[in-house]
Amino acid sequence: DSVFANVVQAPEDPILGVTVAYNKDPSPAKLNLGVGAYRTEEGKPIVLNVVRKAEQLLVNDPSHLKEYLPILGLADFNKLTAKLILGADSPAVLENRIATAQCLSGTGSLRVGSEFLARHYHQHTIYIPQPTWGNHPKVFTSGGLNVKSYRYYDPTTRGLDLQGLLEDLNAADAGSVVLFHACAHNPTGVDPTPEQWEQIRQLVRSKGLLPFFDSAYQGFASGSLDEDAQSVRMFVADGGECFIAQSYAKNMGLYGERVGALSIIWIFTWFFKPALDWKYWFRHEKKVCKAADVASRVESQLKLVVRPMYSNPPIHGASIVAKVLKDKDLYDEWTAELKGMADRIISMRQQLFDALTARGTPGDWSHIIKQIGMFTFTGLNAEQVSFMRNEYHIYMTSDGRISMAGLSSRTVPHLADAIHAAVT
Ligand code: PLP
Repeated sequence: DSVFANVVQAPEDPILGVTVAYNKDPSPAKLNLGVGAYRTEEGKPIVLNVVRKAEQLLVNDPSHLKEYLPILGLADFNKLTAKLILGADSPAVLENRIATAQCLSGTGSLRVGSEFLARHYHQHTIYIPQPTWGNHPKVFTSGGLNVKSYRYYDPTTRGLDLQGLLEDLNAADAGSVVLFHACAHNPTGVDPTPEQWEQIRQLVRSKGLLPFFDSAYQGFASGSLDEDAQSVRMFVADGGECFIAQSYAKNMGLYGERVGALSIIWIFTWFFKPALDWKYWFRHEKKVCKAADVASRVESQLKLVVRPMYSNPPIHGASIVAKVLKDKDLYDEWTAELKGMADRIISMRQQLFDALTARGTPGDWSHIIKQIGMFTFTGLNAEQVSFMRNEYHIYMTSDGRISMAGLSSRTVPHLADAIHAAVT
């Protein structure tokens, strides 16, 4: 018998498993609304034009090699990626209070951040929203943290449970890490308003909690890179600490290239004026250098996390991103294509809402147009989800989450029929 005869069958991943089941279904009417990847109106995956262009430039550039990157990745990519989330004039960048490491997309960035915290931070508890992306608890547990949750979503209002959230964070042990979705909360599509974010920020700072932002959908939610970064920028503007995990999977369509970054921002209390012109530098040179010294120590420890895990990150995807972010024309083309994707998703929300209204489907479906980002948290229960799979060949996660990006004008009526049948 094999030495592995006793290995037990693990359950299928709850999200990726939906695609496995979908692929086995022979029905021509089948529809995969499970996985969070963008599809065109024709239901096809796409590579952005700007990405094709950047790749072409790389292919034709004899100086573009396939050498190993440094342990923390491509330096240009790291700088530009931090600026993308924080804004070019962010004091954290100007004051050198930031260390950025290119990591394996959003997941890898969360994992490296988690291992760094487990090694160098006194408090090993991380609070994650209830519900959250299914991989979060596994990433943080594997990364050496203790996972607890805070209330986030209220099923009765299909909105934010702000009271519950504030109560739970208020009761958290001082110094606990708190995970926030920067925008387009997955799976609920429910984000705090700017006023609610401000309340959350004040509580986080007064309790000395450490915010860890997961930014997987910057630009993909509203169509604007700046607007989708507002929550993070509020927390960075107050000068306090913050962790950020970024992903280019959705917003540049680089899913399989695994491009993302972890940024760690630290506090510098006696650094009082952020205007970093040369006179300022001259007067405060020692302080600036002190900040740079922390950067060097943090980076040195990040390297010790990464080196035994995968040595260094892949070069291709990060080179594409760096090209696009560096070149004004490519950048403009990217933001236009990004807005196109976001707008198509927003229009799918409206079409689905209209189709249910036209059918007189019982219930209030306004959350479909109120929620933000790639997913709609339909409110359908597990039984209704399996009914739709069996009778209509429509695939989604068992919590009733559907990817609006997997929908098109052609398939909206089929989905609306199925939802109507499931709830009546
Ligand atoms: N975080 C959230 C909330 C997500 O929804 C996802 C992807 O679905 C990720 C992180 C990470 O994705 P990736 O590792 O592909 O960048």
